[in-house]
Amino acid sequence: MVHFVGAGPGATDLITVRGAELLRNADVVIYAGSLVNPALLGLCRPGAVLYNSAQLTLEQVLDITQKADAAGQQIVRLHTGDPCLYGAIREQMDALQKRGISFDLTPGVSSFCGAAAAAQAEYTLPGVSQTVIITRMAGRTPVPEGENIASLAAHGATMVIFLSAGLLDGLQVELLKGAYTAQTPAALVYKATWPEEKVLRCPLGELAETGRRHGIRNTALVLVGDFLAAGYDRSRLYDPTFTTGFREASQ
Ligand code: SAH
Repeated sequence: MVHFVGAGPGATDLITVRGAELLRNADVVIYAGSLVNPALLGLCRPGAVLYNSAQLTLEQVLDITQKADAAGQQIVRLHTGDPCLYGAIREQMDALQKRGISFDLTPGVSSFCGAAAAAQAEYTLPGVSQTVIITRMAGRTPVPEGENIASLAAHGATMVIFLSAGLLDGLQVELLKGAYTAQTPAALVYKATWPEEKVLRCPLGELAETGRRHGIRNTALVLVGDFLAAGYDRSRLYDPTFTTGFREASQ
């Protein structure tokens, strides 16, 4: 049996209770060593066999998994954040299915949630944005043409951009082709929830320069949108004049 587990964004106490339990019981752990906090591996029992998938191909991961499964072992495949975002899990799940190996998934706290917490921000503010666009710049992995940054930026919604900290010059240019201006607030959140976390706020027009000044090239998210500015409408849900399914209006 293979358990895909979201490790959370970095802090070791941000794995779920279920994920931690699966790690404690695992015989074999294959972890994404480029981003998973190695301190989490301290949860594993002494006899557990650990593999860093950053040094393996998909075929090698599958070979290790198949052998361990045939020996009746419990396998944890530990991915950073939540496995459903940029986790390359679909190709693993399909291959496991083909081989008749069963698996399940345990979600994790994605880094985009960790980054909001670090910035003490709410992505969906009434009167500002009710939409969060999660995307990335095209790198060695292409992005479908209809999803280019400029077209997504046309909405002026909240944007969270993964895997692009090394491409800030191009990213800034593309974002400015949309509804944002050079004054739209942005933030670079480096290693959210890790001890070395940094939240660097700047106007969008200074994004690339801010990244350069602080030497940020990876493990960061770019947040853009007016949710980082001062203004918003208060929520209807907690408005005394508004009746909800749980509360009558009092005024
Ligand atoms: N599945 C992961 C994302 C994996 S892709 C998740 O849900 O978070 C790897 C990218 O995620 C990095 O390039 C970076 O953009 C982002 N990332 C991962 N952990 C991060 C963290 N703690 N702080 C900021 N960005 C992070």
